[in-house]
Amino acid sequence: MLDVRDLTKTYRKTVACDHVSFHLDPGSVTVLLGPNGAGKSTVIKSAIGFLRYTGSITVGGYPNKSVEARRILGYIPEIPSLYPNLTVSEHMEFIARAYKLTGYKPDIEALFDRFELSDKRRKYGDELSKGMQQKLNICLGLLPRPRMLLLDEPMIGLDPHAIKELKSLIVELREQGCTILVSTHMIDSVDMLWDRAIIMQSGTVRANLTKGELDAQGETLEELFFGVTEGIAPDEAEPAAGLDNGAAECGAAKGASGSAEESGGGPGGHSGASKDSSAGASNGEKDA
Ligand code: ADP
Ligand code: MG
Repeated sequence: MLDVRDLTKTYRKTVACDHVSFHLDPGSVTVLLGPNGAGKSTVIKSAIGFLRYTGSITVGGYPNKSVEARRILGYIPEIPSLYPNLTVSEHMEFIARAYKLTGYKPDIEALFDRFELSDKRRKYGDELSKGMQQKLNICLGLLPRPRMLLLDEPMIGLDPHAIKELKSLIVELREQGCTILVSTHMIDSVDMLWDRAIIMQSGTVRANLTKGELDAQGETLEELFFGVTEGIAPDEAEPAAGLDNGAAECGAAKGASGSAEESGGGPGGHSGASKDSSAGASNGEKDA
């Protein structure tokens, strides 16, 4: 569904991605893990078509910057870019019109209900707390029902209820056939959620395996992560010296905050149109 081959991206002297290659199967959830600065956001922004790079990226067999690919792709950027003078509802309308959606109102209501934005619908973009901005950011990405969804550090800033909703939404979307790539540096935020894990460090892919393959190795995702990013062989007990690459921030329950590079696109980071998939934006399940 997503095919990345030899993706290389340099920002002046920084090689953010160095010959990165991977393939995502349709209807699967892949977690993209790595310390801050590993190149996760660069991979995602390249895939969505916001950056210039060398290598090739196709979505459903189409070049990622083609109209066909843009119909398939959805993106939830790391940093919400909202319009200060549009309300929450107007942001959703904006996306609905940009994508020429029809019959979308119940989806908006279900998303507002799910992410507790119903009573915020008249608030302007610049009146929202960080967490609310992130919730709206997620709703904007989901409204067009993309068949392939790229989420960049989506849990950051969310309260526990929203994290729970987002996780169950990811599972529902997968059940409906959506292909999902979710980047994070917080391993415990995605445990139990993934089919494939890709671990990046210093712009390269250090591990790429399915849950079944990891289970067969008898390792947890966290053990694999630290084994790979701290240079420890899986069965070695001694921690490696020279842990100076930020990997220590990436462990479960260490809760580091995200890196603060630029975000791409307008509200919801959208640049195309999509309406023929069945992402699950309409389940209004809610905590009591
Ligand atoms: P991650 O998302 O894994 O934290 P990024 O993809 O944001 O990593 O960054 C990878 C590398 O590219 C880092 O060294 C970062 O400093 C650099 N980088 C990212 N964006 C820019 C930019 N706009 N200009 C210069 N360097 C950048
Ligand atoms: Mg990032």
